[in-house]
Amino acid sequence: MKYTHIQSKTALHKLRPGRLPFDYDLNLYRGCAHGCIYCYAMYSHQYMESEAYFDEIFIKENIAEILEKELHTKKKGKINLGGVCDSYQPIEVTAELMPNVLKSLIKHKTPIVISTKSDLLLRDIELIKELSELAEVNIAATITTMNEDIRKKIEPGTVSSERRFQMLERLKKETNANVGVHLMPIIPYLTDTRENLEEIYRRANEIEADYVLPGIMYLRGKTRNVFFEKTEKLFPNEHEKLKKMYAYKYDRSPYKKALYTYINELRKTYGFNHSNKIDKKIKSNEQLKLF
Ligand code: SF4
Repeated sequence: MKYTHIQSKTALHKLRPGRLPFDYDLNLYRGCAHGCIYCYAMYSHQYMESEAYFDEIFIKENIAEILEKELHTKKKGKINLGGVCDSYQPIEVTAELMPNVLKSLIKHKTPIVISTKSDLLLRDIELIKELSELAEVNIAATITTMNEDIRKKIEPGTVSSERRFQMLERLKKETNANVGVHLMPIIPYLTDTRENLEEIYRRANEIEADYVLPGIMYLRGKTRNVFFEKTEKLFPNEHEKLKKMYAYKYDRSPYKKALYTYINELRKTYGFNHSNKIDKKIKSNEQLKLF
């Protein structure tokens, strides 16, 4: 693993209005050591002139300072932390960028969304609690599977899904944040079993999550090639079926219809049959870039 410290010129990246339920993206890092085989954000490394999205991480060591300047001058709106990386990936243990970022957000009473696959976020629970009492805070754990063997293959650098649920449970009890589960991407043949989907909804209900946001996997650009390289080695029995399902002209609509019919049953059973501010604004789950 290679880590490179860089100075960032800007912090907040303005998003096209109306498409997503936040106004800006804020990325503390470039690259992500969580290594998810379906990661949609791999494309972002082209701007760093690097191919090694999972293995070469750029640390924006001045990010809190630049953010403070931008919040102080002009930029107002809801911020999504981690559009193309996970803010709580392993290097955050020592880099400690988030505490100063959160202090600046507290100072400016800025609403935020964080989605993560790490319970390192609990290190900053007091700061998150403080911000959640001043502004809208939405914390989501992305949870794709309760099968640890599969989780270790598809998200090798992450903590277990159960630890992510326990993180949400604590946040729900100890802060004023909205907490949710991003059940995405749902990967055909790997994470789409009834048992897996039901267990995720059941645990979300048990910990009193505010919402569950499901979404089927999409594959584009660099992600597509990396995903199939990995599945060939890791899931030889499912690899060909996945290739067929994700062939360019393959009609996935019958599959999607059956999947979402089952998900709607789960929503009713487990009390998530309502929309919230996050999923109301999402036009298409396949387009969603939140995980
Ligand atoms: S946690 Fe998110 S950004 Fe990091 S590798 Fe996984 S999908 Fe990509």
